[in-house]
Amino acid sequence: MKPAVLSTPTEVRQYVAALASAGKRLALVPTMGFLHEGHVSLMREGLQRADEVAVSIFVNPTQFAPKEDLSTYPRDLDGDLRRCEAAGVSVVYAPQPKVVYPEGYQTWVTVDELSKGLCGDRRPGHFRGVATVVTKLLALFRPSLALFGEKDYQQLQVIKRLTHDLELGVDIVGLPTVREPDGLAMSSRNAYLSKEDRQRALALSRGLFEAQRLVEGGARDASSLVAVLRASLAAADLREDYAEIRHGETLDPIATLAPGVPARALVAAFAGSTRLIDNVALAAR
Ligand code: AMP
Repeated sequence: MKPAVLSTPTEVRQYVAALASAGKRLALVPTMGFLHEGHVSLMREGLQRADEVAVSIFVNPTQFAPKEDLSTYPRDLDGDLRRCEAAGVSVVYAPQPKVVYPEGYQTWVTVDELSKGLCGDRRPGHFRGVATVVTKLLALFRPSLALFGEKDYQQLQVIKRLTHDLELGVDIVGLPTVREPDGLAMSSRNAYLSKEDRQRALALSRGLFEAQRLVEGGARDASSLVAVLRASLAAADLREDYAEIRHGETLDPIATLAPGVPARALVAAFAGSTRLIDNVALAAR
Protein backbone atom coordinates (compact mmCIF):
# COMPACT_ATOMS: atom_id res chain seq x y z
CA MET A 1 0.00 0.00 0.00
CA LYS A 2 1.17 3.56 -0.73
CA PRO A 3 2.20 5.43 2.42
CA ALA A 4 -0.01 8.34 3.48
CA VAL A 5 1.85 11.61 2.94
CA LEU A 6 1.39 14.08 5.80
CA SER A 7 2.60 17.66 5.80
CA THR A 8 1.37 19.28 9.02
CA PRO A 9 1.75 18.55 12.76
CA THR A 10 -2.05 18.38 13.06
CA GLU A 11 -2.18 15.51 10.56
CA VAL A 12 0.63 13.73 12.41
CA ARG A 13 -1.14 14.09 15.75
CA GLN A 14 -4.33 12.58 14.27
CA TYR A 15 -2.35 9.63 12.92
CA VAL A 16 -0.49 9.14 16.20
CA ALA A 17 -3.74 9.28 18.22
CA ALA A 18 -5.39 6.66 15.99
CA LEU A 19 -2.36 4.41 16.31
CA ALA A 20 -2.28 4.79 20.10
CA SER A 21 -5.97 3.96 20.45
CA ALA A 22 -5.36 0.80 18.41
CA GLY A 23 -2.58 -0.05 20.90
CA LYS A 24 0.08 -0.12 18.17
CA ARG A 25 3.81 0.57 18.52
CA LEU A 26 5.36 3.11 16.18
CA ALA A 27 8.93 3.28 14.86
CA LEU A 28 10.19 6.60 13.45
CA VAL A 29 12.95 6.96 10.84
CA PRO A 30 14.00 10.62 10.44
CA THR A 31 15.70 11.39 7.10
CA MET A 32 16.52 14.17 4.67
CA GLY A 33 15.26 12.09 1.75
CA PHE A 34 16.96 10.98 -1.48
CA LEU A 35 16.61 7.60 0.13
CA HIS A 36 19.03 4.70 -0.41
CA GLU A 37 19.57 1.21 1.02
CA GLY A 38 21.04 2.69 4.23
CA HIS A 39 17.73 4.41 4.95
CA VAL A 40 15.79 1.31 3.89
CA SER A 41 17.72 -0.82 6.40
CA LEU A 42 16.40 1.47 9.16
CA MET A 43 12.82 1.12 7.88
CA ARG A 44 13.06 -2.69 7.70
CA GLU A 45 14.43 -2.94 11.22
CA GLY A 46 11.71 -0.57 12.39
CA LEU A 47 9.06 -2.91 11.00
CA GLN A 48 10.68 -5.84 12.84
CA ARG A 49 10.45 -3.98 16.13
CA ALA A 50 7.14 -2.08 15.84
CA ASP A 51 3.69 -2.37 14.25
CA GLU A 52 4.11 0.61 11.94
CA VAL A 53 6.95 2.72 10.57
CA ALA A 54 6.80 6.45 9.88
CA VAL A 55 9.53 8.16 7.83
CA SER A 56 10.15 11.88 7.95
CA ILE A 57 11.64 13.52 4.88
CA PHE A 58 12.85 17.01 5.68
CA VAL A 59 15.97 18.78 4.45
CA ASN A 60 16.44 20.64 7.71
CA PRO A 61 17.75 24.14 6.94
CA THR A 62 18.98 24.79 10.49
CA GLN A 63 21.60 22.04 10.33
CA PHE A 64 23.34 23.56 7.29
CA ALA A 65 25.97 26.26 7.78
CA PRO A 66 25.64 29.32 5.47
CA LYS A 67 28.05 28.12 2.78
CA GLU A 68 26.96 24.49 2.78
CA ASP A 69 24.84 22.57 0.26
CA LEU A 70 21.27 23.31 1.48
CA SER A 71 20.07 24.67 -1.87
CA THR A 72 21.65 21.87 -3.92
CA TYR A 73 20.91 18.96 -1.56
CA PRO A 74 19.48 16.17 -3.78
CA ARG A 75 15.70 15.68 -3.65
CA ASP A 76 13.35 13.11 -5.22
CA LEU A 77 10.08 12.82 -3.31
CA ASP A 78 8.44 10.50 -5.87
CA GLY A 79 11.37 8.08 -5.80
CA ASP A 80 11.45 8.28 -1.99
CA LEU A 81 7.74 7.43 -1.76
CA ARG A 82 8.28 4.37 -3.98
CA ARG A 83 11.09 3.17 -1.71
CA CYS A 84 8.99 3.76 1.39
CA GLU A 85 6.07 1.85 -0.14
CA ALA A 86 8.34 -1.09 -1.04
CA ALA A 87 9.68 -1.15 2.53
CA GLY A 88 6.17 -1.24 4.04
CA VAL A 89 6.20 2.26 5.54
CA SER A 90 2.74 3.50 6.68
CA VAL A 91 3.29 7.22 6.78
CA VAL A 92 5.70 9.77 5.29
CA TYR A 93 5.91 13.17 6.96
CA ALA A 94 7.25 15.75 4.51
CA PRO A 95 6.66 19.23 5.96
CA GLN A 96 7.74 22.54 4.41
CA PRO A 97 10.45 24.47 6.32
CA LYS A 98 7.87 27.15 7.26
CA VAL A 99 5.78 24.52 9.00
CA VAL A 100 8.71 23.32 11.13
CA TYR A 101 10.11 26.82 11.75
CA PRO A 102 7.21 29.29 11.51
CA GLU A 103 7.63 33.05 11.87
CA GLY A 104 8.91 33.82 15.37
CA TYR A 105 10.48 30.42 16.00
CA GLN A 106 13.13 30.68 18.75
CA THR A 107 13.52 27.41 20.64
CA TRP A 108 16.67 25.29 20.33
CA VAL A 109 18.15 22.11 21.75
CA THR A 110 21.91 21.97 22.31
CA VAL A 111 23.90 18.99 23.50
CA ASP A 112 27.04 20.62 24.87
CA GLU A 113 29.98 18.23 25.03
CA LEU A 114 29.09 15.67 22.36
CA SER A 115 28.55 18.46 19.83
CA LYS A 116 32.18 19.58 20.20
CA GLY A 117 34.97 18.31 17.98
CA LEU A 118 34.72 16.24 14.78
CA CYS A 119 31.77 17.44 12.63
CA GLY A 120 30.69 19.81 15.43
CA ASP A 121 33.80 21.96 14.98
CA ARG A 122 33.81 21.78 11.19
CA ARG A 123 30.10 22.52 10.81
CA PRO A 124 29.21 25.31 13.30
CA GLY A 125 25.61 25.05 14.49
CA HIS A 126 25.10 21.68 12.76
CA PHE A 127 24.28 19.63 15.85
CA ARG A 128 22.08 22.36 17.31
CA GLY A 129 19.99 22.09 14.15
CA VAL A 130 20.02 18.27 14.24
CA ALA A 131 19.19 18.07 17.96
CA THR A 132 16.37 20.59 17.60
CA VAL A 133 14.66 18.95 14.63
CA VAL A 134 15.00 15.44 16.06
CA THR A 135 13.58 16.59 19.40
CA LYS A 136 10.64 18.19 17.59
CA LEU A 137 10.01 15.00 15.59
CA LEU A 138 10.23 12.77 18.68
CA ALA A 139 7.86 15.08 20.59
CA LEU A 140 5.41 15.13 17.67
CA PHE A 141 5.38 11.40 16.86
CA ARG A 142 6.03 10.06 20.38
CA PRO A 143 7.28 6.79 18.84
CA SER A 144 8.28 3.73 20.86
CA LEU A 145 11.57 3.75 19.02
CA ALA A 146 13.50 5.79 16.49
CA LEU A 147 16.21 4.39 14.22
CA PHE A 148 19.42 6.09 13.10
CA GLY A 149 22.53 5.00 11.20
CA GLU A 150 26.02 4.65 12.63
CA LYS A 151 27.15 6.32 9.40
CA ASP A 152 26.52 9.62 11.21
CA TYR A 153 28.19 8.44 14.38
CA GLN A 154 28.51 11.71 16.29
CA GLN A 155 24.89 12.51 15.41
CA LEU A 156 23.80 9.15 16.85
CA GLN A 157 25.59 9.87 20.15
CA VAL A 158 24.08 13.38 20.30
CA ILE A 159 20.58 11.95 19.77
CA LYS A 160 21.05 9.20 22.37
CA ARG A 161 22.19 11.85 24.86
CA LEU A 162 19.34 14.30 24.27
CA THR A 163 16.74 11.52 24.44
CA HIS A 164 18.16 10.43 27.80
CA ASP A 165 18.67 13.93 29.19
CA LEU A 166 15.20 15.17 28.20
CA GLU A 167 13.59 11.90 29.41
CA LEU A 168 11.77 11.45 26.12
CA GLY A 169 11.23 7.74 26.76
CA VAL A 170 12.07 6.74 23.18
CA ASP A 171 14.33 3.80 22.45
CA ILE A 172 17.11 5.06 20.14
CA VAL A 173 18.36 2.27 17.89
CA GLY A 174 21.66 2.68 16.01
CA LEU A 175 22.23 0.43 13.00
CA PRO A 176 25.42 -0.42 11.06
CA THR A 177 26.49 1.56 8.02
CA VAL A 178 25.26 0.09 4.74
CA ARG A 179 28.01 0.16 2.09
CA GLU A 180 28.32 -0.18 -1.67
CA PRO A 181 29.95 -3.48 -2.71
CA ASP A 182 33.34 -1.73 -2.96
CA GLY A 183 33.12 -0.36 0.59
CA LEU A 184 31.94 3.22 0.03
CA ALA A 185 29.43 4.18 2.73
CA MET A 186 26.06 4.90 1.11
CA SER A 187 25.13 8.57 1.31
CA SER A 188 22.68 10.86 -0.46
CA ARG A 189 25.69 13.10 -1.13
CA ASN A 190 27.39 10.38 -3.20
CA ALA A 191 25.08 11.59 -5.99
CA TYR A 192 27.32 14.68 -6.25
CA LEU A 193 30.45 12.66 -7.07
CA SER A 194 31.99 12.57 -10.54
CA LYS A 195 33.19 9.15 -11.72
CA GLU A 196 36.76 10.03 -10.73
CA ASP A 197 35.82 11.43 -7.33
CA ARG A 198 33.64 8.35 -6.68
CA GLN A 199 36.79 6.20 -7.13
CA ARG A 200 38.91 8.49 -4.97
CA ALA A 201 36.24 8.50 -2.26
CA LEU A 202 37.05 4.84 -1.59
CA ALA A 203 40.10 6.11 0.33
CA LEU A 204 37.89 6.85 3.36
CA SER A 205 36.67 3.28 3.86
CA ARG A 206 39.98 1.79 2.68
CA GLY A 207 41.88 3.62 5.41
CA LEU A 208 39.28 2.76 8.04
CA PHE A 209 39.33 -0.96 7.14
CA GLU A 210 43.13 -0.91 7.22
CA ALA A 211 43.06 0.62 10.72
CA GLN A 212 40.55 -2.04 11.77
CA ARG A 213 42.84 -4.81 10.49
CA LEU A 214 45.84 -3.34 12.29
CA VAL A 215 43.91 -3.22 15.57
CA GLU A 216 42.80 -6.84 15.10
CA GLY A 217 46.49 -7.64 14.61
CA GLY A 218 47.39 -6.00 17.93
CA ALA A 219 47.95 -2.30 17.15
CA ARG A 220 47.02 -0.02 20.08
CA ASP A 221 48.56 3.37 19.42
CA ALA A 222 45.97 5.87 18.17
CA SER A 223 48.45 8.23 16.53
CA SER A 224 49.83 5.50 14.28
CA LEU A 225 46.25 4.55 13.31
CA VAL A 226 45.51 8.18 12.49
CA ALA A 227 48.63 8.17 10.31
CA VAL A 228 47.16 5.21 8.39
CA LEU A 229 43.87 7.06 7.85
CA ARG A 230 45.71 10.17 6.68
CA ALA A 231 47.99 8.23 4.33
CA SER A 232 44.97 6.65 2.68
CA LEU A 233 43.31 10.04 2.09
CA ALA A 234 46.58 11.58 0.87
CA ALA A 235 47.23 8.71 -1.57
CA ALA A 236 43.90 9.47 -3.25
CA ASP A 237 44.51 13.21 -3.13
CA LEU A 238 41.49 13.82 -0.89
CA ARG A 239 41.53 16.87 1.36
CA GLU A 240 41.27 15.72 4.98
CA ASP A 241 38.74 17.47 7.21
CA TYR A 242 39.56 15.27 10.20
CA ALA A 243 40.90 11.80 11.01
CA GLU A 244 40.56 10.77 14.64
CA ILE A 245 40.30 7.93 17.12
CA ARG A 246 37.66 8.53 19.78
CA HIS A 247 35.91 6.69 22.60
CA GLY A 248 32.86 4.93 21.14
CA GLU A 249 30.33 6.50 23.53
CA THR A 250 31.74 9.67 25.07
CA LEU A 251 33.65 10.56 21.87
CA ASP A 252 36.57 11.65 24.09
CA PRO A 253 39.95 11.42 22.34
CA ILE A 254 41.79 8.12 22.91
CA ALA A 255 45.60 7.85 22.87
CA THR A 256 45.88 4.09 23.43
CA LEU A 257 43.28 1.45 22.66
CA ALA A 258 42.43 -1.10 25.35
CA PRO A 259 40.37 -4.31 25.35
CA GLY A 260 36.81 -3.72 26.50
CA VAL A 261 36.96 0.03 25.82
CA PRO A 262 34.77 0.88 22.80
CA ALA A 263 36.70 2.91 20.23
CA ARG A 264 35.86 4.42 16.88
CA ALA A 265 37.95 5.63 13.97
CA LEU A 266 36.26 8.58 12.24
CA VAL A 267 37.19 10.44 9.06
CA ALA A 268 35.83 13.34 7.05
CA ALA A 269 37.31 14.43 3.73
CA PHE A 270 36.51 16.38 0.60
CA ALA A 271 36.31 14.65 -2.78
CA GLY A 272 36.24 17.71 -5.00
CA SER A 273 33.73 19.95 -3.25
CA THR A 274 31.76 17.04 -1.74
CA ARG A 275 32.32 16.45 1.95
CA LEU A 276 32.12 12.78 2.92
CA ILE A 277 32.23 11.14 6.35
CA ASP A 278 32.74 7.54 7.48
CA ASN A 279 33.70 5.61 10.61
CA VAL A 280 34.29 2.09 11.94
CA ALA A 281 34.47 0.39 15.32
CA LEU A 282 37.91 -0.62 16.60
CA ALA A 283 37.97 -3.67 18.84
CA ALA A 284 41.27 -4.06 20.69
CA ARG A 285 41.88 -7.64 21.84
P1 AMP B 1 20.15 11.50 6.14
O1 AMP B 1 19.00 11.39 5.20
O2 AMP B 1 21.48 11.49 5.47
O3 AMP B 1 19.98 12.61 7.14
O4 AMP B 1 20.12 10.17 6.99
C1 AMP B 1 18.96 9.73 7.66
C2 AMP B 1 19.30 8.55 8.53
O5 AMP B 1 19.84 7.51 7.72
C3 AMP B 1 20.38 8.88 9.58
O6 AMP B 1 20.08 8.20 10.78
C4 AMP B 1 21.62 8.34 8.93
O7 AMP B 1 22.63 8.00 9.85
C5 AMP B 1 21.08 7.11 8.24
N1 AMP B 1 21.99 6.69 7.17
C6 AMP B 1 22.51 7.47 6.19
N2 AMP B 1 23.36 6.75 5.42
C7 AMP B 1 23.39 5.49 5.94
C8 AMP B 1 24.07 4.29 5.61
N3 AMP B 1 24.92 4.23 4.60
N4 AMP B 1 23.85 3.21 6.38
C9 AMP B 1 22.99 3.26 7.42
N5 AMP B 1 22.31 4.36 7.79
C10 AMP B 1 22.50 5.46 7.06
